[in-house]
Amino acid sequence: MKALVLLAPGRLEMKEMPKPVPKPNELLVKTKAATICTSDLHDIEYNPFNINLPMIMGHEGAGVVEAVGEDVTDFKPGDEVTAHPVMPCGECGSCTRGLNHLCDNMSHLGIDHGGAFAEYFTIRQDRARKKPAVLDFAESTLMEPVCVCIEALERANMKDGRNILIIGDGPFGILMSRLCKLYRDAKVVLVGRHPFRMAQAPNAVTVNEKTSDSVLDDIMQAVDGKGFDSAVLCVGTNEALDLAVAALRPRGTLSVFSAVKGKPTIDMFKIHVKELNICGSCNDMDYLDRALEYLQDEELNLKEVITHRLPFSQFQEAFRLAAKGKDSALKVSIIFD
Ligand SMILES: [Zn+2]
Ligand SMILES: [Zn+2]
Repeated sequence: MKALVLLAPGRLEMKEMPKPVPKPNELLVKTKAATICTSDLHDIEYNPFNINLPMIMGHEGAGVVEAVGEDVTDFKPGDEVTAHPVMPCGECGSCTRGLNHLCDNMSHLGIDHGGAFAEYFTIRQDRARKKPAVLDFAESTLMEPVCVCIEALERANMKDGRNILIIGDGPFGILMSRLCKLYRDAKVVLVGRHPFRMAQAPNAVTVNEKTSDSVLDDIMQAVDGKGFDSAVLCVGTNEALDLAVAALRPRGTLSVFSAVKGKPTIDMFKIHVKELNICGSCNDMDYLDRALEYLQDEELNLKEVITHRLPFSQFQEAFRLAAKGKDSALKVSIIFD
């Protein structure tokens, strides 16, 4: 089969690879769509997770079951499925504490398990879901990105009637903004720097940091000076962190969804006097079914974030668009025959 293999940082190439063989509890999936994630771009650029290279990349995949392992009971060949890339062990300290998304021995598509940028991939049956008929394959690959956005909002302690600040207008910031429609009377303020992308969050008040004289003044004005109950960092800069800490109201919560590079300085005095909560959010607590339900919700219209679908042969253009197409692209999906 043909697969996109990361050979070294900066070197992603299409290679001929052996077709994977499903383990007893796995499905062999003939890929129909695989969507590029911001984390793929980071992995390709500088391999922050120390992936053991070479590795077939890609963790947002969907397709048709071609074969099943002998212990598979829930799926059969021909089923249309979408996959969640995280495969927890179920036995370690984290899994037994109910935190299987933070498994100590986690297996993950495209990190230690061959990924979905290939004509075939395998996935454990408990991490697959049948594709809802109203979603096409590319749309269904959004299951896991939507899962992690749900987690980021829950970690930010988002609730009905609250103000939320989302910093970053990438695909995750846009998905989170749209998901905030689930909260009654919520006020959403999105800080970004790309007009095309910010326009994809129609339910948010948007502030462009490139044109604003004072982003802090503008976002505070958007909530009548009250500040924010919740904030999510969807961009990994020290400035974004400072802005969130300054804009949160007492007992507000910051969910750190994008890792800040290096060791940022942070105003501990503000955290102390405002009794702020700062927490991380990275994976998700098994929100697969909820994510698929939200993806089918016409009012949330999450599937619209797939702006481009390109054939596998044009993968280089797909990655270029995902990395640089900030004036026309959000999620870019690679489509297979
Ligand atoms: Zn992803
Ligand atoms: Zn585990």
